[in-house]
Amino acid sequence: MRTVYRHGTFYDLLEALAQPGCAICTLVARTRWRYLDSLAYENVNDPGVRARIRAALGFCNRHAWYFVETVREVFGAAIIYRDILHTVQRAVARGAGSRAIEPAGPCPACEAERQAAEDALTVLTEAFDDPDLHRAFERSDGLCGPHLLQVAATGRTDERRRLVAASLEHQQGNGMTPPQARWRAVGAPGLFPTDEQALTSGESDRVAAPSVELADPFTCPVCTAVRSDLDRIASWESLDNQIGGLCNVHAWMPPGQDCLKLYTRQITTMAQRARELAEAGGKAWLPRAVRELRQRHSRADDMSFPLSCIACRRQAAIERSLCTLIVRPLCLPHLRRAVRQNGPEAMAAVRSSWRDLDHLLGEYLRKEDYRFRGEPRGIEQKSPRWIVALISGAPGIR
Ligand SMILES: [Zn+2]
Ligand SMILES: [Zn+2]
Ligand SMILES: [Zn+2]
Ligand SMILES: [Zn+2]
Repeated sequence: MRTVYRHGTFYDLLEALAQPGCAICTLVARTRWRYLDSLAYENVNDPGVRARIRAALGFCNRHAWYFVETVREVFGAAIIYRDILHTVQRAVARGAGSRAIEPAGPCPACEAERQAAEDALTVLTEAFDDPDLHRAFERSDGLCGPHLLQVAATGRTDERRRLVAASLEHQQGNGMTPPQARWRAVGAPGLFPTDEQALTSGESDRVAAPSVELADPFTCPVCTAVRSDLDRIASWESLDNQIGGLCNVHAWMPPGQDCLKLYTRQITTMAQRARELAEAGGKAWLPRAVRELRQRHSRADDMSFPLSCIACRRQAAIERSLCTLIVRPLCLPHLRRAVRQNGPEAMAAVRSSWRDLDHLLGEYLRKEDYRFRGEPRGIEQKSPRWIVALISGAPGIR
């Protein structure tokens, strides 16, 4: 019997399988915490780490806010994001135009999560015959839909087939409660992004553009409008178009609480897709390098979203209509859309806001210095959250 797999990840997996929910989600969530927590305490000034964060133009939306709200590293966020702001400003000054706001690499926290999921899924497939692991898997809650699809597309055909069959058994039997259906359909909270395809595709539903409220000089009005429109919806099921589903981000918002019909549709579609993938001979198996290349360059074949997210589609419609009004500073995700829709002139409106915010951040960081601790605090205390929102978008918009 092969025993090479009996290393750290194997025991972590055994332990995760004993906990409620998807074991891969449990391990990925742990990696997310460790990665961002250690960044807060040790690596904020590590040049290699900083270079990767700079290339990515900060963390993606969900990791940026996890860092600020859950790791509670406001000071570290101010340092990292001011550095990114300077990078963008320098690129604009050099004449890079709209390329200045295009990330040149993936979010490093997403990379850490992707690696953790891949390691855990590799051990799960390779060690599935191990009696301890097999028993632990049978007693577990099984895998969430997105991880089921990942496992169905990796590993050797026989391994894939058996693991997919065993996972699908967990879904049968007694009817699911809405909370069970939610994690089965979309994975644990915060572990997958919004439906990028639904947010960027050309076609979208028709939605009357909400009025734009101006909160303060640094908050993106499109983010505010999207949030206030979606906050008015009591349940995503009221948007149901009979063919869509929900992304992880929207599913875990309050209107996603009782959407049993949507989750059931999503789980059924994913089960069907997983069976097809597992049966697809050797074709679904791709060497890791090819898969990574695909992941980086195209989300079109991302299998986490077999059904288009209905909330993302609504958001896309609002973004399309509002990204033409450029009267106030837009966050980078919305600025990129505005540039795509209206050309590079869209960037002109943000440059003075960037300068003002840079000044406030300088004040915030100065007052964190023990020599100036006695000075009264003012509006600069809000600048770390403003800059994170301006670079990575308001919480939950991506
Ligand atoms: Zn999962
Ligand atoms: Zn990320
Ligand atoms: Zn925005
Ligand atoms: Zn969504």
